[in-house]
Amino acid sequence: MTQQNYYQASAGPAESYPAASAHGEVEVAIVGGGYAGLATALGLAERGVHGVCLLEAEQLGFGASGRNGGFVFAGFSLSEAELLRQLGVDHARRLYAATQRAVALVRQRIQRYQIDCDLVDQGVIWANWFRDPELLRSRQALLANAFASHWQRLSVDELHQRIASARYHGGLFEADALHLHPLKWARGLGRAAAAQGVAIHEQSPVNRLQKVAGRWQLGTQSGTLIRARQVVLCCGGYLAGLHPRIDRSVLPVATYVMATEPLGNQLEACFPGTRAAVYDSRFAFDYYRPLLDTRLLWGGRISVLDRSAAAVARLLRGDMMQVFPQLADVKIDFAWSGLMSYARHEMPQVGQIEPGLWCAQAFGGHGLATTLAAGEVIAAAIAEHDPAIQDYAAFGLPWAGKPFGYAAAQLSYSWMQWRDRFKDFRESRLAR
Ligand SMILES: Cc1cc2nc3c(=O)[nH]c(=O)nc-3n(C[C@H](O)[C@H](O)[C@H](O)COP(=O)(O)OP(=O)(O)OC[C@H]3O[C@@H](n4cnc5c(N)ncnc54)[C@H](O)[C@@H]3O)c2cc1C
Repeated sequence: MTQQNYYQASAGPAESYPAASAHGEVEVAIVGGGYAGLATALGLAERGVHGVCLLEAEQLGFGASGRNGGFVFAGFSLSEAELLRQLGVDHARRLYAATQRAVALVRQRIQRYQIDCDLVDQGVIWANWFRDPELLRSRQALLANAFASHWQRLSVDELHQRIASARYHGGLFEADALHLHPLKWARGLGRAAAAQGVAIHEQSPVNRLQKVAGRWQLGTQSGTLIRARQVVLCCGGYLAGLHPRIDRSVLPVATYVMATEPLGNQLEACFPGTRAAVYDSRFAFDYYRPLLDTRLLWGGRISVLDRSAAAVARLLRGDMMQVFPQLADVKIDFAWSGLMSYARHEMPQVGQIEPGLWCAQAFGGHGLATTLAAGEVIAAAIAEHDPAIQDYAAFGLPWAGKPFGYAAAQLSYSWMQWRDRFKDFRESRLAR
C-alpha cells in the first residue's frame, strides 16, 4: 500500500503554475487553491473582474479538495432540520437553493470548460443502517416540503437490487447528485480560471497580511509583496495563520479514505443495479462509490488524529467488511487522510470580515457544492455589490474552542458513534 493518495496517482500530470516572485499590485488576491479559492477566482473572472491572483502554498488541490470522497450534493454539514429551525423557512430555502444551483453549476462548468473529471451523474443513495423506517419517511417529507427536493424512497428489496449488502433497511435516492474525481475537478477549475486571466501561483505560502495605506499587503515566504484592494482567505482546515480571529473560528478535523485494488467483475457484483455513490444513515456514517477503473473508494470516520496509511486502511477495511463481507480478500492499494474545516455552528463562514477582507471556509464534509455556492456569492458581492452574501451573515466567526474543541469534537463523535451502535443493537434484539 502506498502513502500516495489515489487521486494523485490517477489524475495524470498536473499543469504547474509559477511561484509568486515579483512584487505586484492586484485587484483581488485569493489565498488558498482549494475549491473555495478556485471557485471565487473563476466566479470573478466570469464576471469580468481583471487583476485577480490566487496564491497556493503547495499545489492546487493539495488540501481537502484533492483528497475527498467526490460526492456532489446539495445541502450543508448542518442538517436540513436544524437549518430550518435556526433560520426559518424562507431564509433556509434561499441557502439550500444556492447549493442546489451549485450542483447544476458543477455540471455546467464540466461541459463549458470540458473538464474531464470522471463524472458519474447517477445520483447518491442514502442507505438506512437502521430498521427504523421513520428516519427515511421524515427526511424524505422534510426535503420535499421545505426544499422541493424529491428523493425517491427505495424499499429493502429495491435497495438490495442496487447494492449487494444485507446491511441496509431501504434508503432514499437523490437523483440530482453526482460523483467525480475531486483532484481532476480542482485542476479543471484552475485551468478554466487561468485561461480567463487569473494569475495562479503555486508553492507560494502567504505568511503576512497587513493593511498599509488603505491597501491590503500580502507577503509570501520568499519575500514577494502583493498589494490588493480585496483579499479572500480560503484556507479550509489548512489554516492560513494570517488572521487570528479567522483561524480561531475553525476546527480542522481529519477524515479518512481508502481505495481497493481494481475489482473487475466483483465491483459489478457489489453494485448490480447502480453506479450511484452511497452513504448511510448513522451519524458516524460510511461513504463509498464505485470508481471507473473498478476500484471501490471507501471513506468514513472523523478524528483529530492523523493516522498512518496502514492504520487508516485497517480501520476502514473493518468498516467495509460490515457492509461487503464478500470483499474480505481484496487488497487495499491506497489509504490517506485529509483535513476538513468545521465551525462550531457547522455552517460555512462566508463574508466580509473587515473592509476588503473576505473569507470562505468551514465547509465541513459538504464542500463540493457549497464551495461553489460560496465562490459565486463572494464574486457577485465583490464584482456587483450583490447583497445575497448577507444570507450567510447569521453564521459568524465564533471561537471554535481550540484546543478544547478537539477534545469536545472527539468526545461528541465517540458519543454519537456509541448512540449509533446502541440503536443498532436494540433494533437487532427487538427483531429476534
Ligand atoms: C477525506 C475527505 C472527504 C470528503 N468528502 C467529501 C465529499 O464526498 N463531498 C463533499 O461535498 N465534501 C467532502 N469533503 C469536504 C470537502 O473536500 C471540503 O469541504 C472542501 O474541499 C474545502 O475546500 P477549501 O477550498 O475550503 O479547502 P482546501 O481544499 O483544504 O484548500 C485550502 C488550501 O489553502 C492552502 N493554504 C492554507 N494556508 C495557506 C497560506 N498561508 N498561503 C497559501 N495557501 C494556503 C492549502 O495548502 C490548501 O490547498 C471531504 C473532505 C475530506 C478531507
